[in-house]
Order: sequence, then structure tokens, then C-alpha cells
Amino acid sequence: SKELGRNKFRFYNSQMSEQNRQEMLLEERLHHALTNRTLEVYYQPKVDLASGTLTGLEALLRWHDEVLGTVSPARVIPLAERLGLIEAVGAQVLDKVCAQLAAWSHLDRVPVAVNLSVLQLHSDRFLAELDRCLAQHGIPPQLIELEITESCLMPERADAMLALLEAIRARGIQLSIDDFGTGYSSLAYLRKLPLNTLKLDRSFVQHLPHSAEDVEISLAVLGLARGLGLQVIAEGVETPEQANFLAQHQCGQGQGYLYSPALPAHKAAEWLTGQAW
Ligand code: C2E
Ligand code: CA
Ligand code: CA
Ligand code: CA
Repeated sequence: SKELGRNKFRFYNSQMSEQNRQEMLLEERLHHALTNRTLEVYYQPKVDLASGTLTGLEALLRWHDEVLGTVSPARVIPLAERLGLIEAVGAQVLDKVCAQLAAWSHLDRVPVAVNLSVLQLHSDRFLAELDRCLAQHGIPPQLIELEITESCLMPERADAMLALLEAIRARGIQLSIDDFGTGYSSLAYLRKLPLNTLKLDRSFVQHLPHSAEDVEISLAVLGLARGLGLQVIAEGVETPEQANFLAQHQCGQGQGYLYSPALPAHKAAEWLTGQAW
């Protein structure tokens, strides 16, 4: 009936505005967090699979908001991208990482990897901001690694991206491809890029060594990396069985809950001083 139709319309309408309200609250809280610099960075250890020793740390965004509670980066990052706030979020993460590395200057430091959104790499200001941040905190570029995803490597921008990645590498900053194997970058293009490391995506590691397909994919990635002179780090290593399989097949490094989740800086520091083991 007509009446029913109208009610249905109202229902959708109020659902829409509820969604808008949620989005507006998130936006407001994210602005608040950026202004008050309350976004946090946690650090997940990367280890040498053969020896179990620390090789690096990955910086991961954490947001505990007093109104919204904990909001996961899988939610924050796409939101920041939609709202045009990703440069500000990325700049705050990088600044906190550099400040932390400076505070750790009396320790035996390892490189810290920072995740980048493709939108950050498309900004003209990115490289200048990166230089400024490193200089401000007195951080040697060798202590920074950037993790980019295959979505950064879209063919339309291939030449500009190649030039940018070369400029980054020329500074001594390390470059890795995150979630490797889940995107669609062509191997011909990949070969031209000045990369250091492929990060084998967790989805391929998860069912090792029981899934025959995942075994084949992992071995193919390891073979490809060896051929291109790249390192491999396996993500999401959760069991000794996975770690053993990967180590046996010359995967250099691993990262995952088997070793450690992402930790607040003071806990991550225990890994730098060797107290964690
Ligand atoms: P990612 O870069 O692939 O990071 C790995 C994610 O897997 C992290 O989730 C980490 O906590 C989680 N993880 C690590 N080891 C294990 C494991 O053994 N098992 C399982 N199940 N999970 C594991 P997190 O911190 O929630 O981050 C999710 C994603 O958000 C990241 O995926 C990254 O794409 C993005 N992200 C996080 N921080 C930043 C940032 O500062 N900037 C940008 N652009 N993206 C970020
Ligand atoms: Ca990453
Ligand atoms: Ca990843
Ligand atoms: Ca991922």
C-alpha cells in the first residue's frame, strides 16, 4: 500500500542519517585526535627466522578515542583517505616514529617500517615532508623503511612513481612491498622498482604447510625474490610449524603473533635491549 511505501521510505531515510551521524562523529573525533596528537604508534618486531633475533620494527597506528573507544586502523585509514585527512594522519605517524627513534638513540636501533597510503605517495609534498621530518629529529634515513602496497603501483602513474621510489632509495631509505601477492602489479614493472623486500601476505602464510596451494604460492614468491635479489619477510607467522617451513625454504624474516603482537614503545624497547627473550 501507499502507507507502507511511505514508511519504508522513512525507514531508509533514518538509516541513512544514522550512518551520516556516525560518519560525522568519526570525522569530528579524528580531527580532535589530529589536533591533540593523540593518535598512537605501536611497534611489531620483525625477526630473523633462523636465529629469532630482531631485524626491525613495523609502526602500526593505534587510536583509542575517549568517546568512540578503540578504532582499528583498518577503519581509520580508509576513513582518513575519504576525508582528505590521510596526509595529516601519515605525517603524525611519521613524526611520532622519528621522535621515538630519537628517544632510542642510546640503544642499538633497528629500522622502523612505516606504512604508506597510496594517496600520500601521490602528494607533491611527500618527499620534502619526509626529509624535513628526518632532519628535524636527526634520524639517519637507513633507520626508516617504507611499506607500500601494490595498489601504489598502478600503471597510469608508473613513471612518476618509479622516479619517486628512486628518490626515496637514493636517500638510503628501505622500500618494501606489503601484502605481496594480493595485488595485480606486473612482474615486468616490479623488476624495474628499486625495492629491498617483499612481504609475503598473511593469507598465504596462514595455512602453511598444510595447504598445497599456499605452499606453491609461497615457494614461487621466494623463488621470484631470490631471482630479483630481494629479501622476503613472511607476515602473520603464528605457529612454529609455519616458521620452520619458511626458514627451511630460505625465507629470511618473519613477523607475527608467534614472536610478538604490536607493542607500545616502552615494551618494544625491551626488544632493542635484548630483554624480551
Ligand atoms: P598491514 O600493514 O598488513 O599490517 C599487519 C596487520 O596484521 C596489523 O594489523 C597487525 O597487527 C596484524 N598482525 C600482525 N601479526 C599477526 C598475526 O600473527 N596474526 C594476525 N591475525 N594478525 C597479525 P593492524 O595493526 O590492525 O593494521 C591493519 C592495517 O592497517 C595494516 O595492515 C595497514 O595496511 C594499515 N595500517 C596500520 N597502520 C597504518 C599507518 O600508520 N598508515 C597506513 N597508511 N596504514 C596503516
Ligand atoms: Ca605493513
Ligand atoms: Ca601486510
Ligand atoms: Ca594486510
